[in-house]
Amino acid sequence: MELLSQFTLLRPNSVAEAIAARAGKSGARFLAGGTDLLPNMRHGLVQPDTLIDLGGIAELRGITHDGQSLRIGAGTTLEQLANDPLLRDTPALVEAALAIAGPTHRAVGTIGGNLCLDTRCQFYNQSDAWREANNFCMKLAGDTCRVAPKSDRCYAAFSGDLAPALMVHRAVAEIAGPSGVRHSPLAEIYADDGIAYLTLAPEEMLVAVRVPLVAGLRSGYQKIRIRGAIDFPLAGVAVALRVENNQLHDLRIAATGAESRPLLINGLDALCGIPLDDALVQLDKLLRKQVAPMETSITPAAYRRRVLPVLARRVISRLIAASAE
Ligand SMILES: Cc1cc2nc3c(=O)[nH]c(=O)nc-3n(C[C@H](O)[C@H](O)[C@H](O)COP(=O)(O)OP(=O)(O)OC[C@H]3O[C@@H](n4cnc5c(N)ncnc54)[C@H](O)[C@@H]3O)c2cc1C
Ligand code: SF4
Repeated sequence: MELLSQFTLLRPNSVAEAIAARAGKSGARFLAGGTDLLPNMRHGLVQPDTLIDLGGIAELRGITHDGQSLRIGAGTTLEQLANDPLLRDTPALVEAALAIAGPTHRAVGTIGGNLCLDTRCQFYNQSDAWREANNFCMKLAGDTCRVAPKSDRCYAAFSGDLAPALMVHRAVAEIAGPSGVRHSPLAEIYADDGIAYLTLAPEEMLVAVRVPLVAGLRSGYQKIRIRGAIDFPLAGVAVALRVENNQLHDLRIAATGAESRPLLINGLDALCGIPLDDALVQLDKLLRKQVAPMETSITPAAYRRRVLPVLARRVISRLIAASAE
């Protein structure tokens, strides 16, 4: 790994100070736990001239409950998220948090950093020397996509585990910027582009996510990865649903690791209230139609495409079995 490039470190004490510190600095980046940003800097993938450390901002940390929803601060660590009893009604969040990296990463890695994670590709997450020897690629310093050479876009995959779990719980992002605070469905902070993967303006930051609580809703998350103890998802699926009379209701599914953004699956209403076997057959078709992984990892895209419905069926079966207990 290369040495870190030179940068100025700023340590704001409030969200307002962080936004002011970011204003007018196109080369600046927010730094949370640093578990993604710092390795990327060492690989020469990003070379910020200023890092704005969010670690001293108390208002970004913590989880609160107002009876109808949870509010999770962007600076809350993954470890805190996984261990907070307030999350007992949103188990997909706990399962996703526990599936991220290893324990030491989770002790410092944050919700905000996980949701704003850079996209990944086998031709991008490499050392500078490796990328140079391979003529770089369109995401950085090159002009051709090595995954799809005729394409004019980058297909690097969004590989965060938490986003799909939050999306099936219909989380809303709280975003601060120079003109104040705005709210957006979490799914809408992502764009289908491996380079410009966030719709947040560079000077905006994620402050919190709000998760509405729905009585009777069950949820879960499952992923496949190369190294079982510590790895990004090759594919991950979050499911939320209610079960009545062995039929699915209020079914929501989101996938990660497969496309440049985490994806909420459309058309699931048609699977609700029909015999379960029929619903699962239709689910297979819906997922294969809507999620199209590219060759961005060393695992073949065709395998990742086939495994997505399998993961969804496994989570659904688990949630149905739990609801019968
Ligand atoms: C070996 C290894 C394995 C990993 N495995 C996984 C895995 O299985 N699943 C997974 O999801 N991740 C994985 N990661 C990535 C990373 O550890 C986690 O995603 C972690 O949650 C990132 O959070 P962070 O606070 O460290 O982010 P940082 O590295 O500090 O930041 C990541 C990005 O988010 C931006 N950012 C941070 N906070 C904010 C904010 N509040 N508003 C706007 N932008 C912000 C930063 O500018 C940066 O671009 C792995 C990393 C390593 C090194
Ligand atoms: S998808 Fe293409 S442009 Fe994007 S990182 Fe991979 S090789 Fe580069």
